[in-house]
Amino acid sequence: MKIINESFVCLNCTQIVPTAQGTCRNHCPYCRVSQHVDGDLPGDRSTSCHGAMYPTMYEIANGMTKVSFQCITCGKIHRNKTLPDDDMFVIDEKIQHYKILLEQKMLQAQMEDAGKPKKWKGRTIRR
Ligand SMILES: [Zn+2]
Ligand SMILES: [Zn+2]
Repeated sequence: MKIINESFVCLNCTQIVPTAQGTCRNHCPYCRVSQHVDGDLPGDRSTSCHGAMYPTMYEIANGMTKVSFQCITCGKIHRNKTLPDDDMFVIDEKIQHYKILLEQKMLQAQMEDAGKPKKWKGRTIRR
């Protein structure tokens, strides 16, 4: 399996995101939005979803901060380590901001999907 670490253009804020050292960067350090490109392993790029992923929560364990991202297209949740150049001082603010956006998108999707088979696999946002 190939693990890809590449620079990319953020689908949310259109900034160019450089590669990270020693790990696969998959979220934008500027606006914190990630893209759903990986399957179950970070860097495997095995999904064709490519939806935007918004940060929804973070946790600190053993001195490491992990941020959870949820895909607005399919509802998949990924957790990722933060990188040294991620600004942790704004993460609370970002999460609050994206939580609201995510809930709006989910409601919108539910309304559009009314009558159609359900796309969301019973996932809800944890508060
Ligand atoms: Zn961005
Ligand atoms: Zn997705």
